[in-house]
Amino acid sequence: PYDGPRTDEILRKRREFLSPSMFYFYRKPLNIVDGKMQYLFDEDGRRYLDAFGGIATVSCGHCHPEVVEAVVKQSNRIQHSTVLYLNHAIADFAEALASKLPGDLKVVFFTNSGTEANELAMMMARLYTGCHDIISIRNAYHGNASGTMGATAQSIWKFNTIQNGVHHALNPDQYRGIFGSDGPMYAKEVQDLIDFGTCGRVGGFIYEAIQGVGGILELAPGYLSAVHDIIKKAGGICIADEVQSGFARTGSHFWGFEAHGVVPDIVTMAKGIGNGIPLGAVVTTPQIAKVLTQRNYFNTFGGNPMCTAAGHAVLKVIEKEKLQENAFVVGSYLIDRLKSLQAKHEVIGDVRGRGLMIGVELVTDRQLKTPAKDETFHIMDQMKEMGVLVGKGGFYGNVFRITPPLCFTKEDADYLIDVMDIAMSKQ
Ligand code: PMP
Repeated sequence: PYDGPRTDEILRKRREFLSPSMFYFYRKPLNIVDGKMQYLFDEDGRRYLDAFGGIATVSCGHCHPEVVEAVVKQSNRIQHSTVLYLNHAIADFAEALASKLPGDLKVVFFTNSGTEANELAMMMARLYTGCHDIISIRNAYHGNASGTMGATAQSIWKFNTIQNGVHHALNPDQYRGIFGSDGPMYAKEVQDLIDFGTCGRVGGFIYEAIQGVGGILELAPGYLSAVHDIIKKAGGICIADEVQSGFARTGSHFWGFEAHGVVPDIVTMAKGIGNGIPLGAVVTTPQIAKVLTQRNYFNTFGGNPMCTAAGHAVLKVIEKEKLQENAFVVGSYLIDRLKSLQAKHEVIGDVRGRGLMIGVELVTDRQLKTPAKDETFHIMDQMKEMGVLVGKGGFYGNVFRITPPLCFTKEDADYLIDVMDIAMSKQ
């Protein structure tokens, strides 16, 4: 049993010593002290089914024994040296990771986070094309450093600092977007942005195939292939941000972009790559990778042997335990069950997603699609009281985000449905 500091003491320390901008989800915050696969445990030993997975980060399961073992083993040998020396852990993982990507995408740069990966990708696009303008999609989240905050396109995540050189395209949002699911129509607007907002050429286009923070919105079909063509014609390169949708989460494919029949020029990743160990990566072609030889490029911890050992173990577990297949089977089952729940509860306006990356949007009026923000908060809190943790997001804060560890089972899905049903019935 846990005998460490409890909720009140941690809250007091947080108030005094941690950033005043930190927030927590629940009325009564949770002190999580242990994790095991798809479960979390609080200070009283109470078990929760984790359907958020540390924001799509815990791919294999909390404290997966093989990932833990890889980290411990590597830690006992060497935790850190410098990239000036050789170590096999980083090279082995780079090779394994490259084998998961299509086409000529085989040069890997390791970083410590998704923000860093996207900062690097955007810089490479700009250097490679000689063009500063980048297009991102409204409602996107790509990070919170100076360059990526420019690409992030939701006011709640943007501080009032200089963020230049990014144009924001219409969101091909199949639920609220003006052209519904007509992807090519939204793509035309990207051409307009280039024609009327730039010199006619762009550095690149950055996108999440399924917007995560934005509320689990998969870009409308036909959009990405049309935009890839437009960007190519304008001299730019395409960057797929797979920070949430990568590493088998979408079930049908290993990467989110693959469901759209495109091959990007750069792919960025983080979160699920390390199952919770801080790690990110940029993968690109040898040709584009060359731009970084113009100057010294260096990242102290990026590709640290301990983190890359973890990443390599994650890849092996995903394959050995067939987690992509599981994400497909259990995810499809859960989406079906959520759709049945939608038939019962008026408050569910939309159920969407792919594999174990699922969104449930709540509205007070299905016709007007009025965001049910308070209800979302309340139901989420009730679900926690009944032992199930889901995430929340979307521009209006009215979308449940279901991104559990990929070892989630059908029984877990049934339990989640029962609990959500009870919480909604009590409304
Ligand atoms: N891209 C996407 C799609 C993300 O969801 C996030 C994090 N929410 C990031 C980039 C930034 O990653 P990090 O928090 O590791 O910097």
